[in-house]
Amino acid sequence: MNVALFGAEGKVGRALVPVLERAGHSVKGIEIGDPVDVGGLDAAVDFTTPEAAPKNVRAALEQGVSCVVGTTGWDPQPLGETARSLGLRLFVAANFSIGAVLMMRFAQQAAAYFPRAEIIELHNEAKKDAPSGTAKATAGLIGGDPVIHSVRLPGLVAHQEVIFGGEGQLLTIRHDTTGRESFAYGVLLALEKLGELPPGLTVGLDALLS
Ligand code: NAP
Repeated sequence: MNVALFGAEGKVGRALVPVLERAGHSVKGIEIGDPVDVGGLDAAVDFTTPEAAPKNVRAALEQGVSCVVGTTGWDPQPLGETARSLGLRLFVAANFSIGAVLMMRFAQQAAAYFPRAEIIELHNEAKKDAPSGTAKATAGLIGGDPVIHSVRLPGLVAHQEVIFGGEGQLLTIRHDTTGRESFAYGVLLALEKLGELPPGLTVGLDALLS
């Protein structure tokens, strides 16, 4: 596919470009101040800022281009309506790491069979918020208000363990993010499935995993 990438010079963008190109996509990087000229491309991907993403998505949709967005902290609902009215797709996910999404799904399945669970989320000390959004989302899926332990240390990237306890047994489900390339494989999946989605807004990688 011919793909526009808003934020190609950002931390995620720089990890995405080689993975997308190795998969056979042609990537047109668009930075702040570049003309948003995406007409004729097959899709636009955005990993920028909550201020920039809606403007980029609107511009792409108005040029007839469906979008895949990883930028967090904005409301995609109104632009989902715009996409639907134009017969285009807007796919948005707060977590493009396939392993993390599967970890949450497996935790939700296990929760039905264990009386208690606790969550340990471990991130680099640069991460300011605690608990992480992924830990809170996992707790919501498990139900029962599990305790969340947050660890912030140098040397860590992004990791989460969900420990289930029952009489005579423990089950630990763990996911480790070791690099931003992990997000690229979720973006590849979204690009692959984009044309099969209904027009309008689709939220979450879970919707793409059979
Ligand atoms: P980052 O390193 O700050 O990169 C953002 C990039 O976007 C920068 O290169 C920035 O340029 C550029 N940019 C800003 N406004 C733009 C515009 N109008 N048009 C084009 N490019 C623009 O941030 P990051 O760590 O890559 O994260 C980007 C976003 O993705 C954040 O919202 C983050 O929360 C989210 N994220 C999502 C996932 C997921 O799985 N969904 C994973 C990781 C991160 P300048 O540097 O020149 O300002």
